[in-house]
Amino acid sequence: MKYEVRARSCIFRPQTSDLITKATTNIMQSIIHLEQIRKSYFMGRQEVSVLKGLNLDINKNEYVALMGPSGSGKSTLMNILGCLDSPTGGSYILNGHDVSKMEDNDLAEIRNKEIGFVFQQFNLMPRLTALENVALPLVYAGIPKKRRTEMAMDVIKKVGLEDRSHHKPNELSGGQNQRVAIARALVNTPSLILADEPTGNLDSKTSIEIMEIFGKIQASGNTVLLVTHEEDIANYAHRIVRLRDGVIESDKRRTDMLVHA
Ligand code: ADP
Ligand code: MG
Repeated sequence: MKYEVRARSCIFRPQTSDLITKATTNIMQSIIHLEQIRKSYFMGRQEVSVLKGLNLDINKNEYVALMGPSGSGKSTLMNILGCLDSPTGGSYILNGHDVSKMEDNDLAEIRNKEIGFVFQQFNLMPRLTALENVALPLVYAGIPKKRRTEMAMDVIKKVGLEDRSHHKPNELSGGQNQRVAIARALVNTPSLILADEPTGNLDSKTSIEIMEIFGKIQASGNTVLLVTHEEDIANYAHRIVRLRDGVIESDKRRTDMLVHA
């Protein structure tokens, strides 16, 4: 009897460890690993469930569009992914760090190090120039002024705004302001760029310019996840994840890659 049990465990052991190795490899390759992520809000005494057990893996250097009807939980999910908010349940591993259980201070540190966030409304400081806006995250990171200016100027060049670097947001167009915001998101060399409807306030020509910048960012090795409700815009990404009522409705990698000249 004893022998039988042992023999059995011999048979099962390699398979189990195989599974563990596989799971670990998945987590290690994933920049985002979500398991059963839930988020609910209380409206008075009533609990409103917004995310209902999401599982999602995004690998390094992917270019993903998150779509879904208004109210489906896209921004809620992005805020959790960007460490701006915590899930009610489930686990979130960001680049190997288990962030779902972190306290605010640690969360802020991870956010500054790992994430560049781009918003629909740009969220720039109105009194600062483009260069100063881009350099701002480096102030928080404690980098000396001369180095800050050099680093900020480098990314400003990457988004093609070197001749506008001393202008303030009200002297720039919407597209230029969004480029400043993208440069600010890139300045800390984060491992992940998150953008919640980054073209939502822009005309279609400018939207395409902004999507091309995200394309270049991804091509240079970064991981990009953006929310959009426009199919044309989503088609710039390589994978489209659709949310509906707080769960993933579909997740498709595009095989018919469009070539944008
Ligand atoms: P989307 O970005 O897809 O339009 P959201 O994530 O903004 O959707 O919102 C999803 C749902 O969660 C909506 O029904 C919204 O009303 C609700 N919600 C979002 N934030 C809060 C909050 N702070 N308090 C209560 N309900 C919220
Ligand atoms: Mg939203």
